[in-house]
Order: sequence, then C-alpha cells, then structure tokens
Amino acid sequence: MPPKEMLVDQFANIHKNRHALHHAATLKIAHAKRYNHLIGLLLIDLDNFKSINSHLGHLMGDKLLLETHARLAACLNSDDFIARIDGDEFVVLLGNVTSPKTAETAIRKIMHCFTQNYNLNGITARINASMGVAYYPHAGVDASALLQSAAMCMSHAKSLGGNNYQCYTETIKKKYTKQSYLENALKFALEKKELFLTYQPIFKLATKEMVGMEALLRWRHPSIGLISPDTFIKLAENNGLISSIGEWALQTVCEQAKKWHNAGHNQFKISFNISSNQLLQKSFLHFMMRMFKSTHMPAHLLELELTETAFLTKASYFKAILKKISKTGIGITIDDFGTGHSSLIRLKNLPIRALKIDKSFVFNITPDSFDAIIVNSLITLGKKLNMNVIAEGIETKADLEFLVSNGCPQGQGYYLCKPLNAKQMTAFLKKNKKTSGSR
Ligand code: C2E
Ligand code: CA
Ligand code: CA
Repeated sequence: MPPKEMLVDQFANIHKNRHALHHAATLKIAHAKRYNHLIGLLLIDLDNFKSINSHLGHLMGDKLLLETHARLAACLNSDDFIARIDGDEFVVLLGNVTSPKTAETAIRKIMHCFTQNYNLNGITARINASMGVAYYPHAGVDASALLQSAAMCMSHAKSLGGNNYQCYTETIKKKYTKQSYLENALKFALEKKELFLTYQPIFKLATKEMVGMEALLRWRHPSIGLISPDTFIKLAENNGLISSIGEWALQTVCEQAKKWHNAGHNQFKISFNISSNQLLQKSFLHFMMRMFKSTHMPAHLLELELTETAFLTKASYFKAILKKISKTGIGITIDDFGTGHSSLIRLKNLPIRALKIDKSFVFNITPDSFDAIIVNSLITLGKKLNMNVIAEGIETKADLEFLVSNGCPQGQGYYLCKPLNAKQMTAFLKKNKKTSGSR
C-alpha cells in the first residue's frame, strides 16, 4: 500500500492522476503482453455523492473521498494501482491477473468496503458505489480503450440501480455504442426536423365517442427509422436535451390543437406527456405557462400527464407546482398508474383530475385474472375519488368488453385507433364530425 503522504498527494491532482493512470496502464499492458496474463481495470463511481456534498457540505464530501481512497488502497496488492480521476471516480488497476475469477476476490473486497459506515467528524454517513470492470486484452488493448469499456460497464451498473458491479461483455458494448450514437444524433434531430408528433384518440368507452387525444412524440432517424420515445426520452433526459425537445413538442401540440379548435373541432381534450425532469426546470415551467396563454387554448381542454415517479423526490416542490398549474384550469393525469410507487395519500393531497391505467394491466386481460382484479380496483378507486379513469393499451375486442362491463369511463388503444400523424388526425376528426353529426 502506498504511504499516507503519497495518498494525499495522489488524491489532490486529478490531471496528474489521469496522466499517472495512463502511464501505469501502458506499462502493465506491456508486461501482460510479454508474460501473457490479464490486467483488470476497475472504474468505481460513488452513488449519489452529490447528496453528501449538498447535505453535509464540501468539506465532509472531501473527507469521505479521502477515506474512500484509503479504503480502496487497503484492498489492493503492491503491484496494483489506484488513482482518483474525477470528482467521485476512482480507477484501480489490478496487475498480474491470471483469470477473471482470480480478480473476483479483490472486486468483492472493494464492493464490501462500501458496506461500512463513514465517520465524518462525528456524523455517520453511508455511500454505495457502482463499478465497471474491463480486462486486457478482451475489453481493450490500450489504456484508453480499457477505460472506455469500464465506463460503459459502470454506466450499466448505474442503470441497474447502482450498488453493483458489471463486467465487460459484447452485449454491454453493443448497447452503449448504439446509445452514444443515438445520443449524438439526437442533438441534431430537432434542427433536421426528424421529430414529429402523433395523436392517439381517447374514447368514451360506452359510446365510442371521441373525447380527447394524447400527443405522442416520434423520432424518424434517416437510417435507423422510427425510434420509440421510450428510448430517446431517457437519452434526452440524461444529456439535458429534454428542455429543447420538450419545448418544441409542447409548442407544436398547442399550435396544432389551436388549428383543430379553430376549425370547429373543439369538443375534445388534448393530453401531453411531461417528464418530471422537465417540471423541475423553472424555465420549462415558465415556457409552458406562456405557451398556454399565447395559444389561447381553453385551459380546461388541456391535460398534463405525469408518472408517479415524479413524486418520489421533491414531493413538496411538485405539489406546489401542480397546484399552480391546476389553478389555471389545466387538468393533471397520473400516467401509468399502478406501475410505480403508487401512494394513495399523494392522490388525496394532489390536484389530480384523472388516473391512467397502464397498458401492462389492460392488454389481453382475462376475467378472474390478477390483472382483472387490479384494473377493477383502480376503476373503483378513481371513481370514488371523483376522478376520470382512462385505460390504455386496449388491443382487442375482449379488452374493450371487459373495461365496458367493469364501468371504465374512457380508454385508448390500437383496437380503437393507433396514434395518427397530424394530417391523418385532421382527416379522422372530419370523418368523426360527420358521423357524430348524422347520429
Ligand atoms: P405513455 O404515456 O404510457 O403512452 C402510451 C404508450 O402506449 C404510447 O407509446 C402509445 O403509442 C402506446 N399504445 C397506445 N395504444 C396501445 C396498445 O393498444 N398497445 C400497446 N402495446 N401500446 C399502445 P409511445 O408512443 O411509444 O410512447 C411511449 C412513452 O414515451 C409514453 O408512454 C410516454 O411516457 C413517453 N412520451 C411520449 N411522448 C412524449 C413527450 O412528448 N414527452 C415526454 N416527456 N414523454 C413522452
Ligand atoms: Ca401518457
Ligand atoms: Ca402508459
């Protein structure tokens, strides 16, 4: 283990540390090549380190980092190497690895050192870590390639909820190479006009009368084709593009809704999805309010859909924001209800107009099944709380019949109508008006 003074010195200068890491990895790789053994590069990133800094202050944060460095160093052999290469990121090089199995002992020891509490000037703290593991030569033949592979694995460990380690595989590589390609392409998607909106009608189930529609974003990539918002919204949230994409989507929806409204299609509501990330940004909130005002859409015809995860953190912030929005007359729908961390107390305390039952419960529903009990209970719950209930994912006649016989007021799904682009929706509305006029 390096002496204590060396630890502190090595700890302080991140730029120097990166350089030292590169140098050490290059030497170890040359040695491994000559003697035909492996090198393990471990990238360790603390989970939620930000919250230590914001709750306990930067001094305590630094103390925790120093202690972590010492703990990690204590897990290593003399021919291993450790460096702090970023805020809360450490790299360990395991030299002389005969097989991944032999490196497991060191890896487990490292993960284990995070199970112990930290004593920060009398305050007890706990922190977890996520680790990516890449072996020379399988995951890369030079220092940069190994580090890049370990970084992919570390991101993968984080995406699984943190507090775990992931070793390099071809599947992880494929996933993250594609992801970074998409992330980069998404930066240009707006200016290249590759994004567009579709609209899926929402019906009163008993009469099949159209009462609303949900705006759903799409990305048509020139070579990949259509990419689902389930994929790219997450990417946009991670790299901060969600604000510009969200603003564009909202403006497009409002302008389109106004056009339909002016053409006399003014009886239906228009719902749009907002991720909690967007609501956390004050600039987005101001933009949204400005948008509603400038398009002169009657507020009671607008419905904001938000998933339950929004309320997991910053509950009081969201409550205040939603109250403000709801005061303008805009409705708030809890999306994917029942799939997240549903809390009934939140339902009571928030200005919610509707519950959306997630499609995972609805499609292929059979009477007497577990899903049927859940759907039935959600319908009853929503009605008793005086809320509208909308089922999504109605794919068959049987799904529809089940919902109608259980008194579900509204729904949407491929069986009733798939999402339509603006042109198709205009034609659909015209046709719909004619048939309802002649009814
Ligand atoms: P969501 O809000 O739960 O939207 C419903 C999803 O179910 C949509 O997927 C819709 O196309 C799909 N769907 C509708 N009927 C059926 C059906 O019968 N069967 C099946 N299997 N699926 C059906 P989509 O359009 O791929 O959107 C996925 C998610 O992406 C949405 O889930 C929403 O969370 C998010 N999203 C879409 N547009 C936006 C947006 O403008 N902003 C944000 N923040 N999120 C969006
Ligand atoms: Ca939705
Ligand atoms: Ca859903």
